Amino acid sequence: MNYDVVVVGAGPSGTAAARECARLGLSTLCIEEHGTIGYPVQCAGLLSTAAFDECRIASERPVLNRVTGARVITAAGSEILIDAKKTKAVVVDRGTLDREMAEAAADAGAEFRMKTSVYSVKGTSVYARGVNGVEEIGFKILIAADGPRSTIARVYGMERARTYLAGIQADMPGECDTRYVRIYPDASPEFFGWSIPTGPGRIRVGMCGRKDMMERFARFSKQFGTSTSQFVTGTLPLGVMKKTFRDRTLFVGDAAGFPKPTSGGGIYTGVRSARHAAAVAATACEKDQYDDTTLAGYERLWQEDFGRELELGYRMFEVRQKMSVEDIDALIRALDNPSILSTIEEYGDMDRPGALVRRLLMNPSILRLAGPLMQAGLHTLF
Ligand SMILES: Cc1cc2nc3c(=O)[nH]c(=O)nc-3n(C[C@H](O)[C@H](O)[C@H](O)COP(=O)(O)OP(=O)(O)OC[C@H]3O[C@@H](n4cnc5c(N)ncnc54)[C@H](O)[C@@H]3O)c2cc1C
Repeated sequence: MNYDVVVVGAGPSGTAAARECARLGLSTLCIEEHGTIGYPVQCAGLLSTAAFDECRIASERPVLNRVTGARVITAAGSEILIDAKKTKAVVVDRGTLDREMAEAAADAGAEFRMKTSVYSVKGTSVYARGVNGVEEIGFKILIAADGPRSTIARVYGMERARTYLAGIQADMPGECDTRYVRIYPDASPEFFGWSIPTGPGRIRVGMCGRKDMMERFARFSKQFGTSTSQFVTGTLPLGVMKKTFRDRTLFVGDAAGFPKPTSGGGIYTGVRSARHAAAVAATACEKDQYDDTTLAGYERLWQEDFGRELELGYRMFEVRQKMSVEDIDALIRALDNPSILSTIEEYGDMDRPGALVRRLLMNPSILRLAGPLMQAGLHTLF
């Protein structure tokens, strides 16, 4: 069995890649180790409206709620409300979203092989084990969309993402204003905690961090109640792998370490990287050229698109590691100023925070707090 493109993994990045490859006329097979698309869910399901649009599905079925802003609440008691007064993000059911994306890929002509796990790659073949027993499947281009623990990257012995965080989350009943996400920067010293309204009286409470996650989560979540209907754990890779292509293979989405280091959101960059990979796969197949010079076009495309944002995001993540509870409280208090809040409301972009950061650093009260930012070398990006 031979295909122009084999995609490993049917998460959002894999199905977006498979759909685009099929649309470009390439024979495409997408292999998924689970029997059902979209489960287990390992995501808070908060997508900017731009990220949701990038998923290019025809229905709004996955959308559970729409949010216009966020409340940021520090352990020391400071609080700000950022409200754009128009929908900035949607809260989705990831299972439904993933399934609809897979259906769109199948409609475009991509084949799917479910409950089949790829365990090795040699030359121009992947080796998979699953419903059809052990199979050797040939490819011209391989797209590795196999998530944060990418088997393909491991088989090649590639250097992976710079940092891995653990995520933990539960759905529960709880008081909420459905318009606002709540962010708790001190819930987890390396990242943050959240409470996302999924609808009236229902919240999704979670956090990401490096260690002691069960204990931290128990401490954090008890303020919201104890009755949970869905419990999720997952891995968040931050900091892009050193090289995102080799040996006819392109790494996309979480497999490449594309989640945004400021928010953990990985769908926007994952889906966009998938389409860049499909474009390069189509060029390679058309020219019948699969050398590194051709594949390097993929790295150029994602770098030009969002590479700088991810690098800036990673520097901000490093700065966050050095910030104490007091530093964070001082920052939130400095932001609590009508002109700064309206700048955030106007220029805030979950997917591309760089423009807002540059603007905020022009404000004297923020600049005063920016010593640690400069130490982290953030200024080199401006
Ligand atoms: C707690 C938490 C909350 C998050 N919240 C958000 C959020 O609110 N918004 C957002 O944008 N992002 C969020 N993310 C990140 C987001 O979930 C990921 O970035 C996104 O799922 C990446 O999509 P992907 O297709 O690259 O990888 P995945 O969704 O991980 O998909 C990879 C697929 O590959 C399959 N697979 C793996 N290995 C093999 C193999 N060997 N053979 C066959 N199949 C294989 C897996 O079964 C899986 O279906 C969150 C992550 C965590 C951990």
